[in-house]
Amino acid sequence: MSAHRLVEKGYRVAVMEMGRRWRPEDFPRTSWSIHRWFWRPKLGLRGFFNMRLFRRATIFHGCAVGGGSITYANTLLRPPDKVWDMGSWAGLADWKSEMPRHYDTACRMLGVVQNRILGPADNLLKRAAESLGVGHTFYRTSVAVFQPPEGEPGGNTFPDPYFNGEGPERTTCVACGGCIMGCRYGAKNSLDVNYLYLAEKRGARVFPETKVVGVRPLAGASDGCAGYEVETVRSTAWIRHNRRRFTCRGIVFAASALGTMELLFKLKENGSLPAISDQLGKHVRTNSESLVGLRIPGYAEDLSKGIAIGCGIYIDEHTHVEPVRYPSGSDTMMFLTTPLTGGQPGPMRIALWMKNLVVSLLRHPLKTLRLFRPSGWARESIILLCMQALEGHIDMRWERPWFWPWRKWLVSRGERIPTFIPQANRFAEQFAQFAGGTAMSMLPEILFNVPGTAHCVGGCIMAHSRDHGVVDYSNRVFGYKNMYVCDGSVVAANLGVNPSLTITALAERAMSYIPPAM
Ligand SMILES: Cc1cc2nc3c(=O)[nH]c(=O)nc-3n(C[C@H](O)[C@H](O)[C@H](O)COP(=O)(O)OP(=O)(O)OC[C@H]3O[C@@H](n4cnc5c(N)ncnc54)[C@H](O)[C@@H]3O)c2cc1C
Ligand code: SF4
Repeated sequence: MSAHRLVEKGYRVAVMEMGRRWRPEDFPRTSWSIHRWFWRPKLGLRGFFNMRLFRRATIFHGCAVGGGSITYANTLLRPPDKVWDMGSWAGLADWKSEMPRHYDTACRMLGVVQNRILGPADNLLKRAAESLGVGHTFYRTSVAVFQPPEGEPGGNTFPDPYFNGEGPERTTCVACGGCIMGCRYGAKNSLDVNYLYLAEKRGARVFPETKVVGVRPLAGASDGCAGYEVETVRSTAWIRHNRRRFTCRGIVFAASALGTMELLFKLKENGSLPAISDQLGKHVRTNSESLVGLRIPGYAEDLSKGIAIGCGIYIDEHTHVEPVRYPSGSDTMMFLTTPLTGGQPGPMRIALWMKNLVVSLLRHPLKTLRLFRPSGWARESIILLCMQALEGHIDMRWERPWFWPWRKWLVSRGERIPTFIPQANRFAEQFAQFAGGTAMSMLPEILFNVPGTAHCVGGCIMAHSRDHGVVDYSNRVFGYKNMYVCDGSVVAANLGVNPSLTITALAERAMSYIPPAM
């Protein structure tokens, strides 16, 4: 996003991205193509999706030219106004009057519209919500998808519908439910077909498979006023890492909450950027999120059809629930799910989970075994993404873990955040009962007592001084000149909705303060 705005202002821009560049035809058909889905280049996996296990949270994130937008579910929502009164950004700006115009710009650039396609999972959630007394909260999501007119089939290609012909041609959505696996039809408005596409067209250079490993101020000006040297390596290389050095006047870190924290911790510790605030890694948030779901073996309709997230409901004032789907055949997520278990987190919950499994196997062997059959998982399952705009955070540090003492890693510390949302679990059970299925939760949640999230934010939060945060009200890094952070790490509160639109709007705002190049 920043690349586009900077090029427009007349700057020469290079985008370093450690992930690969993807074309619609290159995306995997299903999640069984692990090597084209998962990102672990040292193991030969060169996909666009990553999962990292920490003691306090399991974090899912994207890795590609276009960042997380390549794997995200295109749901772009505005958070409630109250989030601007929470956390360290409260009072830094008149957010409630400033942000709407940046949200509008972000929505225009990302082609956000109200979802017109309700799939079987959305309709089922709607009926369940009505029967459970929260039907009035049902809404259609705002999505970054090029949709056909209501009632018309998708799959038709049109010249650029968004940027007066300057953008690429687009094909209308066929409701295959595959957004999270990358859109094979060219209907999803990921960043590579809007912001990055326009930036490249106007001269920005994108370096895919290029990982930034070093950033240091040039020519003895320790605050960076003389510019920076950026060091990169080839992220997908096993042996010849092709180490390169670039110089620039300014830097925008946009490597996601985890990526930016990791890089800045390294650079602060090795003396390249020692003035980075000690608040680095503090106030990392998981959007107070929990992932539960249900599986309905033998369900008459195909629950994988529709848009990845087509609708949402509120089961109470604070708890927002969205049904998420994977495309038909993408059944590997089954290995991360297990029947939902109540109880308090810890060994007793594991014991209860095992007891429930054994009892269920003895009482209903076939029904229980069908829950663990990978085949058909995506067609028969709905993941429920539950989010709350409530306070709660963890910290990240740069330490040597006991099991790998010869190098430092990002590790999670601080108070535990709730492993699950009791109201969400209750809703999943009621929904499963309504639909004739079984409520499910995430296996790491039960085994390791950690919540799962695809919405990790914070760690370089905005604040009024370096004693409280890493960047100021316009994303400038405290202690350095011409250095910005424009990604999820600056977010200073749990948003209670999917965060990408807010991350984009905040980046739009930050770029709006930068003067045109001389
Ligand atoms: C499966 C899934 C579904 C999601 N669905 C939604 C949704 O529907 N709506 C929503 O709002 N959000 C969704 N999200 C979350 C969303 O993807 C992220 O919140 C968002 O992309 C974060 O944006 P960002 O700018 O912080 O970083 P990212 O978009 O993650 O981009 C950071 C990029 O930096 C690269 N990088 C990291 N370190 C380096 C380095 N050292 N050198 C070079 N490159 C580096 C990474 O490879 C990555 O491509 C989803 C996430 C997942 C995993
Ligand atoms: S539902 Fe299918 S066609 Fe539509 S945006 Fe998602 S992946 Fe693309």
